[in-house]
Amino acid sequence: MLWLVSFLIAAAQAAPAAQTAPVQVPEKFQMPFQATNADEAGPWQQSVRARLFEIVQAQNPHKDTPLDVKPGEFTDARGFQKAQLTFTGNESQTIDCWLTRPDGDGPFPAIVCLHGHGGDRDMIHDPESIYKGLAAQYARRGFVTLAPTLAHCPYAPNQLWNLMRLVDVLHTLPYVDKSRIGVAGLSMGGEWSMWLAACDTRVSAAVVSGWMCSTEGVLRVPNCPCWMPPGLLELCDIAEVHVLIAPRPLLIESAISDGCFPIDATQTGFEKIVRGYTVLGAVQNVRRHTFPGGHAWSGEQAYPFLEKALNSQH
Ligand SMILES: [Zn+2]
Repeated sequence: MLWLVSFLIAAAQAAPAAQTAPVQVPEKFQMPFQATNADEAGPWQQSVRARLFEIVQAQNPHKDTPLDVKPGEFTDARGFQKAQLTFTGNESQTIDCWLTRPDGDGPFPAIVCLHGHGGDRDMIHDPESIYKGLAAQYARRGFVTLAPTLAHCPYAPNQLWNLMRLVDVLHTLPYVDKSRIGVAGLSMGGEWSMWLAACDTRVSAAVVSGWMCSTEGVLRVPNCPCWMPPGLLELCDIAEVHVLIAPRPLLIESAISDGCFPIDATQTGFEKIVRGYTVLGAVQNVRRHTFPGGHAWSGEQAYPFLEKALNSQH
């Protein structure tokens, strides 16, 4: 399994050499979700979001690098148009993407499509990969899609500025409806989807696949430690970060035999998210799809979910 090999290599590369004792769930979180009504939950969301930005900023300072979007020529890709697109990232690096668009003038809803460990923009278009070609699938359903190749970092959230720049890129395209932008990703791409939707309210809906889990569950399995920049573990249960997406529509995909995220811990995590959405009066906007199999995208509910979430706002 290529993804597993890549994942383990990435884990080995990212593991701090001095780490010996297993990381434990904190006895007490600094900012757990304890709100009992929307008047308390809103300020909690703002405070946690501000803290997340601080955590990322401490590892990877935000720079005002010019975006320098360079879309290539579109060619027909059987059901949609596909082009290369490059832009300049936060650290002045060139970021390669596949951009797709439907035929016609638009404006169209758009989806940022995110790969995980060992993945790239090609794999997320490949129907034979664990991503099941999700970018191409959304493209055929009438969405503009933007699928970058993002580097593995010491800490996955270090990519937050570049994730937000993907939304900036979509805002430069005249055929994209800026009010209808979603995100979908698997594995570290699911984690990035959580970060982007939690921190950037320009994102209207999200699908988080093969990532959402309680902190206890993430730590129970030898996952790549890149999910955990200094300061994050102590903040709140990692599942509660998804509450920052509320009231916007959120679908969680959980594979029942996912070797990275134990299904019982994804249930515990999902209950925390439902509690947050309920307090914020938006429980109808959060859903989980569990399905047989291992660490992989499903799409069975994720395709109609974003179709409904992003088309109903039109
Ligand atoms: Zn990693």
